[in-house]
Amino acid sequence: MVDLKGVHKSFGPLEVLKGVDLEVKAGTVTVILGPSGSGKSTLLRSINHLEKVDRGLVRIDGELIGYRRRGNKLHELREREILHQRSQVGFVFQNFNLFGHLTALQNVVEAPVSAQRRKRKDVEPEARALLERVGVGDKADVYPRQLSGGQQQRVAIARALALRPKVLLFDEPTSALDPELVGEVLDAILELARDGSTMVVVTHEIGFAREIADTVVFIDGGVIVESGPPYDVLDNPTHERTRAFISKVL
Ligand code: ATP
Ligand code: MG
Repeated sequence: MVDLKGVHKSFGPLEVLKGVDLEVKAGTVTVILGPSGSGKSTLLRSINHLEKVDRGLVRIDGELIGYRRRGNKLHELREREILHQRSQVGFVFQNFNLFGHLTALQNVVEAPVSAQRRKRKDVEPEARALLERVGVGDKADVYPRQLSGGQQQRVAIARALALRPKVLLFDEPTSALDPELVGEVLDAILELARDGSTMVVVTHEIGFAREIADTVVFIDGGVIVESGPPYDVLDNPTHERTRAFISKVL
């Protein structure tokens, strides 16, 4: 489903990703752990070409992301083609990023209508069902400022789902929330995982990682240090750096 090969990314002199290989199979959940600054967000953003990689390839369902191959050269796709590819990837950010002037329902309806040119009247019932599914069905007609952080984030998840994405990316979806609101958002994400969504989740919630992950990837200094099932990486890590990190966040 998602396939990264030899991905390199620098910002000026700072090499943030130093050759990352990652394979996420359809219907599985990969959790990415690592210290602050290790390149987790950059990695996630590379998957839908929000960051342009310097070297290496990203594929989703076999389709090259951001580029077209001509002979043995790669040419960057046009903006419109990139936006089309991006609309097949759901992205949920730390800070919800809802449109403040739109209701919860309008937030969910917006992207399928503008990016996928679907009809508003077709999208609306689906959007209501999605809000229902993440437990905020009764909030369809209110504005983000009238919602708690946890409710806003669940609207953001519904909005990501409305694009019927092939894969969902979560970048620390609960780290901006008050502790008492974390559980409801994690529960909504767990539910989606149980329904077979393909996901990549950056989180510091180790208990959640253990519960949701098929694969845990530990990244440090721009390289994948260790990856495998939660039982191995979280409970019996082989690398000293993984051990040190996990003992710190537990
Ligand atoms: P955190 O846990 O704090 O979110 P992270 O693992 O997500 O960290 P990244 O956001 O991927 O880390 O950043 C990796 C490094 O790249 C950091 O040193 C950061 O300062 C740098 N960086 C990220 N984006 C940019 C940018 N647009 N321009 C310059 N440097 C950047
Ligand atoms: Mg980050």
